Amino acid sequence: MKVFKFGGASVKDAESIKNIVSIIKNEGASDTLVVVSAMGKMTNAFEEVINSYYNKLEDLPNKLNFIEEYHKGVMSALFDKEDEIYKEIDVLFGELGWFLARNTSTRFNYVYDQIICFGELLSTKIISAYLTKIGQNNVWFDVRSYIKTDSNYRDAKVDWELTKELITSKVDATKINITQGFIAANDTENTTTLGREGSDYTAGIFAYCLNAENVTIWKDVPGVLNADPRVFKDTTLLQQISYEEAIEMAFYGASVIHPKTLQPLQSKEIPLLVRSFINPKETGTKISKGANLEPLIPCFIVKKNQILVSISALDFSFMVENNISYIFKKLHDFQLKVNLIQNSAISFSVCIDNKFNKFDAFYNELKDEFKIEVQKEIDLYTVRHFTDNAIAKIEEKGSALLTQVNKETIQIVLAEN
Ligand code: ADP
Ligand code: ASP
Ligand code: MG
Repeated sequence: MKVFKFGGASVKDAESIKNIVSIIKNEGASDTLVVVSAMGKMTNAFEEVINSYYNKLEDLPNKLNFIEEYHKGVMSALFDKEDEIYKEIDVLFGELGWFLARNTSTRFNYVYDQIICFGELLSTKIISAYLTKIGQNNVWFDVRSYIKTDSNYRDAKVDWELTKELITSKVDATKINITQGFIAANDTENTTTLGREGSDYTAGIFAYCLNAENVTIWKDVPGVLNADPRVFKDTTLLQQISYEEAIEMAFYGASVIHPKTLQPLQSKEIPLLVRSFINPKETGTKISKGANLEPLIPCFIVKKNQILVSISALDFSFMVENNISYIFKKLHDFQLKVNLIQNSAISFSVCIDNKFNKFDAFYNELKDEFKIEVQKEIDLYTVRHFTDNAIAKIEEKGSALLTQVNKETIQIVLAEN
């Protein structure tokens, strides 16, 4: 069995849906499980709904209307007016309206997951119905009955044992299966999510549980490039990469693959193919066991909008185990993700992501106990297989605040010019 994953950009409008449906027909007409994200930027649009709902803003009906019109606009280009799909989509909007009217919870992360999931439910219903319409049998299922997690809303952890049992007993591996990425459920049937951009990870979960032959994630780029094409002008396609290399790249911020996707695949040696949905004839990038990086060139990864924090003791004492472990506990409590650590005798520096907007609370908690220097809006550049030339290319972008070098990797924290 094969696993395919199509992200938002690949299903953003009716033309795109026709394109991926032809890819499914040509390359995955049976024995395929297809994981799909919400259409285009719909997850962002649902985040706006959540914000308006949670803060009781007047623009909520407009925000909802935008989403409904978007989906119905795409549907009108794919289906006749009488098609059954309209009823199914109305049922989903009905469920969403029911939740918005009945919910009494004020827990933001819980509310977020119960609303955000509709993006994936809508997109997969539409794609499944379109496949059926063109005569391609397929099975749609609600992934929330297959992938089970804990109740850590918005960043839920998979219950592997239960998930494996459910997937292996319920998926018909001979069919074309269509399901949602990103979303899951806890043991009380509430929706949970695996973190933004988590659909790649969903594909990895299914592939692991089904012992898939391979996973293909279809992207708007030719494959994994040696640098983010949005930041660097000249990029080169990497034809093959080892799991270790790809894990390092994803971990340091190469956003083409969700970082959690690779480990389950690596443990069963299931190759991950990254291919272009724009040029599906091209082979793209193959990530597999022990594969040497080909071509062997420097790879550039950037994480934007980081915070560099340097912490030292108020009484001039050294930064040692007990205060460092205390600071780490606080970083964890405030969900601040550490991307780089540097320690000297008297100060401890970390470069962090403020994804959950809790940095100020963290700062306030520690500011009376430590001397804290903060530099916001900085970038973290990581270069794998660096050369002098590659380092110079980064350093011309701004002033380096901190540099860390390992055998294969250099990391530079930079304030842009
Ligand atoms: P999806 O549609 O699956 O959500 P994403 O938009 O999350 O896809 O990921 C694809 C994007 O990742 C590309 O359009 C590209 O801008 C960006 N990207 C960042 N780093 C890389 C890289 N090293 N190679 C290829 N693409 C990259
Ligand atoms: N739709 C979700 C998001 O935009 C999940 C994904 O696309 O991977 O974050
Ligand atoms: Mg994405």
